[in-house]
Amino acid sequence: MSFFDKIRAAFARFMSGRYGADQLGFAMVIVSLVMTVISSLTRFYFLTLMADALLIVMLIRMLSKDRYRRQHENQVYLVKTEKVRRAVSEWFNRVKNSKKYHYFTCQNCKMRLRVPRGVGNVTITCKGCGHKFDKKA
Ligand SMILES: [Zn+2]
Repeated sequence: MSFFDKIRAAFARFMSGRYGADQLGFAMVIVSLVMTVISSLTRFYFLTLMADALLIVMLIRMLSKDRYRRQHENQVYLVKTEKVRRAVSEWFNRVKNSKKYHYFTCQNCKMRLRVPRGVGNVTITCKGCGHKFDKKA
């Protein structure tokens, strides 16, 4: 067994029964990074302290053996941020596909619809409510 295998095995023993990473932990890292960047740009260094505190909380959660409680916290986070997370992922998709598709919002039911770019004048039929409208894509 090589030196690195021994370290890997020791780490696996240390982490067994512990909670590990989850979506809430990932969000805490992102928020902490954003706070660190803001604090270095504004020289408001109290924010760095808060970012570090957030990272420490994230680490304590990862190493926790109370899996049930950590899963519950993560579930609460996922439920409370569902709309925001969905909006962010939708926005990323729009940016990613903006060269291929034109995006429109149905005036009747506010559903977001996409049409391939370069098809010219089209009559769009909303998938949600059947409302029809003309657009240039
Ligand atoms: Zn509609």
